[in-house]
Amino acid sequence: MKVTLAGATIDRRFWKDDPAATPETISAAYARISHSPKTMGELRDIAVDQIEGARSSNENIIYRMGHSSVAEHAVFNLDIEDASRLLVEFIEHHRLASYTERSQRYVFFGDKELVIPKEIEDSEFREDVIDLERKKFDLYNRMVSDALMKEKYGDKLLEQARYVLGLTCPTDIGLTLNARELEYIIAQGTKHDLSEVRELSRALFDSCGDLAPSLIKYTSGHDHITSTRNAIADWMKGRKSKSQIFECQSCLPHTTMEQNVCCERPTAIDDPEAEIAAALMFEIGDLSFKEYRCIAREMSDSDLMDLFTPVFRNYPVHASLPRAFEMMYLTFDFLISASAFAQLKRHRMATLLVQGYDPDDWVTPQVYIENPDHTKDYLDLMRESSVMFSRIKKEMGQDVASYVLTNAHRRRVVFKVNLRELYHFVRLRSDQHAQDEIREISNRMVCAMKEHFPLVTSMLCGKDTYDEGKKRILGCSSEKGGE
Ligand SMILES: Cc1cc2nc3c(=O)[nH]c(=O)nc-3n(C[C@H](O)[C@H](O)[C@H](O)COP(=O)(O)OP(=O)(O)OC[C@H]3O[C@@H](n4cnc5c(N)ncnc54)[C@H](O)[C@@H]3O)c2cc1C
Repeated sequence: MKVTLAGATIDRRFWKDDPAATPETISAAYARISHSPKTMGELRDIAVDQIEGARSSNENIIYRMGHSSVAEHAVFNLDIEDASRLLVEFIEHHRLASYTERSQRYVFFGDKELVIPKEIEDSEFREDVIDLERKKFDLYNRMVSDALMKEKYGDKLLEQARYVLGLTCPTDIGLTLNARELEYIIAQGTKHDLSEVRELSRALFDSCGDLAPSLIKYTSGHDHITSTRNAIADWMKGRKSKSQIFECQSCLPHTTMEQNVCCERPTAIDDPEAEIAAALMFEIGDLSFKEYRCIAREMSDSDLMDLFTPVFRNYPVHASLPRAFEMMYLTFDFLISASAFAQLKRHRMATLLVQGYDPDDWVTPQVYIENPDHTKDYLDLMRESSVMFSRIKKEMGQDVASYVLTNAHRRRVVFKVNLRELYHFVRLRSDQHAQDEIREISNRMVCAMKEHFPLVTSMLCGKDTYDEGKKRILGCSSEKGGE
């Protein structure tokens, strides 16, 4: 085994003048490993010498072949300064990135410039908002410099004083993320309602788009998210909401520092389809999750389907479904060969538990069945491996013994995923380009899911049958699917 350092995060100042210095070369070299016998060093040399070739290879492998994880090898470090707390919420909503944020618990924020969002800057509220935000900073400053409070609260003073600061309050974050997630964040921000988010999206693209054009490509925005939210909001109109519940009261209930987290026993989910429906409504409405759960559990199948339909209709084949679909967890327990396991384990948004390989359990592919001589040789080798496994295991343990097993040997796994990830898994693995064994596993999961949860799995299928399914189930194709 040999380890070579292929690259590292180095401050941009040290490499900005070299035209071949782009994180795309690492992605291109790794992308090509899949189909090329060349060494990794040779592949990196080729990528650096022929940048344009590397770029077109990236585009082909990532976007045409759908081997998107290749873009994850290119990593960016970005300084984001003077972002409002609300903008930071948008940024950190994305889970697959690394953040380090200047903390209001430890740093004094009273000398920050007031940031007035563009929407408010151009509105009749400008003066009032500036006045209000100044008053917040004033009170914060008075609190932080109050000698008595300092003495009484010590290190805790900043922590408590910050509660009065506005969500406009600017802060700084160091952001590290790969090209796949960066492209996703840029696209999410392009059509966002807040101009600060749109500005961030443009700034991210301007900073990295030219540096890695083959990895940051589809940034034009996601209409399907807004159109789906609007459709669900329309569907919810006239149904129960907080304003109706509190309409007879003079004011909404006040909140104190007292926490209402975990007041009740966390519930186990016995009706996962209703759970997803509740989550979809929760993100748009204003009732508690518990109330939406009650509403969802009383909904008829046809009502539930009406709620899910905008998602299935609007979300394109490559988009991951709304996070509400993470509310349903599925646990599968099955046997899998080492060959198919190599693919299963690549799905990271899952809990994968494994047992050791069983030396006496293997699969026999069709090519070894065609001819009796091949079949005999194959079976002999499997048995021989099994015997060798047992001998080594006795002396050196199961881990070392596993080296003498083959791609055909099977192990038992537990694969636990949420429905959002299962959709993604099935899109790739029930597709015609997937390898046979994993496709069979994926197809069986689809059958079981459809039998037990027919509503939320309406569009659970491989990429290749997606269009046909959409026409059959929703009466529309992907080109004209949007609402
Ligand atoms: C037909 C086919 C051929 C393939 N060929 C090869 C090959 O030759 N060589 C090879 O190495 N692999 C190959 N793969 C594997 C492939 O590149 C993926 O690693 C694998 O399918 C896992 O899928 P995923 O990366 O989309 O996401 P998962 O791990 O299932 O994650 C789900 C989603 O989470 C997000 N995500 C997860 N982790 C990250 C992250 N670190 N950064 C950003 N976003 C993230 C992405 O949006 C992703 O779609 C192949 C896959 C298929 C389907």
